[in-house]
Amino acid sequence: MSDRPAPRKFGFETRMVHAGHVPDANTGARAVPIYQTTSYVFDSPDYAAQLFELKQYGNIYTRISNPTTAVFEERIASLEGATGALAVSSGMAAQFISLMTLLSPGDEVVASSHLYGGTVTQLKQTFQKLSVKVTLVDPHDFAAWERAITPKTRALYGETIGNPRGSIFDLEKFAGLAGAHKIPLFIDNTFATPYLCRPIEWGATIVLHSATKFIGGHGNAIAGVILDSGNFDFSRFPSIAAPSPSYHNLRFFDTFGHYGFLMKARAETVRDVGACVSPMNSFLLLQGLETLSLRMERHVGTARQIARYLSEHEQVAWVAYAGLPSHPDHALAQKYLPKGPGAVFSFGLKGEGAQVREDGKRFIESLHLFSHLANVGDVRSLVIHPASTTHQQLTDEELAACGVGPEMIRLSVGLENVEDLIWDLDQAFHALSRSIRA
Ligand SMILES: *Cc1c(COP(=O)(O)O)cnc(C)c1O
Repeated sequence: MSDRPAPRKFGFETRMVHAGHVPDANTGARAVPIYQTTSYVFDSPDYAAQLFELKQYGNIYTRISNPTTAVFEERIASLEGATGALAVSSGMAAQFISLMTLLSPGDEVVASSHLYGGTVTQLKQTFQKLSVKVTLVDPHDFAAWERAITPKTRALYGETIGNPRGSIFDLEKFAGLAGAHKIPLFIDNTFATPYLCRPIEWGATIVLHSATKFIGGHGNAIAGVILDSGNFDFSRFPSIAAPSPSYHNLRFFDTFGHYGFLMKARAETVRDVGACVSPMNSFLLLQGLETLSLRMERHVGTARQIARYLSEHEQVAWVAYAGLPSHPDHALAQKYLPKGPGAVFSFGLKGEGAQVREDGKRFIESLHLFSHLANVGDVRSLVIHPASTTHQQLTDEELAACGVGPEMIRLSVGLENVEDLIWDLDQAFHALSRSIRA
């Protein structure tokens, strides 16, 4: 037996800064270089042949892999506790590519009804064109999930922190349900980030991010990432296990084991769909990851103070922040997100119908520091009125199922001085009361 000490397991903050990278051997560059290249010279024709057969790991073309992107992938995989990662061009692409890798026509997915508006449209409209049936179910109605699962169900799908009511997905319970049916659990962890919650620790199979949000963190790059726990037995899934005609009958699960799903997603789905991330954006995402814990601590701390301020305001009907004891999922938030349930939440203005819709618009117009735009997870504070923007494509029924009303305003709390942010909200409320009196 060796008497050497076990290798040290580095903490989250250390991996955030170092995982996946050593200083460049040729130049000594300490920061991760941007390999702004489309393609890579092969050492020899034999080596090239091995690369194309996936018998050798190496770079061929940046649509498939890139050294800057590889550092980002390794780093985020380390932070999520995943076996590997695949970075792609957007969060929407991460969803599409991961599900396309798994699904065939006729397959079914059961998904939470509390999802990002764009995800609902992708699942219900685009996947329907591919003859995949997606059933949306209230994440609080567990019995309805059990009823919705059929022999054709190939995946369960949810968001750690649901959009836009801040509902918390009961990860452990749904992982149990997925396990009982031998199907993978897909979790979009965008709003939580691996700093606040690591769904794989609760049994999730595949974790997805819109890296556009808190991971990049600065509102300057669109990207997404797919992470595999490596814990799922895909041998029953022909899409991953059967010989693949589009890769000279390679059996991805047999050949690559725990990397089979991601290898197939990279070597086939991204190859064919083409939604790759640019090296420059991977570099920006790395810049974001290096300060993730610090930013998330501040985002959450400020969000808590603003949620408390709003919950005590006389012009506010409700505040849907799972960090408040009044939120129905407060206990779930304490279990899965003990450091705090993120910094994106919504609240409702008092009033009804057309009047409150107008108030919502006026409130947003009156804000100075909060930017009115369709994004979350920026260092800057953001505000939006979901019913007229992000969720506009949904039918009234789908809107109600998502819990979006005309009085709802969604905030993404940034890193500005908290007193300045409260000042800004305060003066917007004053503008509303002036217009009511006028
Ligand atoms: C933004 C977002 C997406 C889509 O990501 P893009 O990077 O904009 O394509 C998916 N899910 C959630 C929860 C999001 O917030």
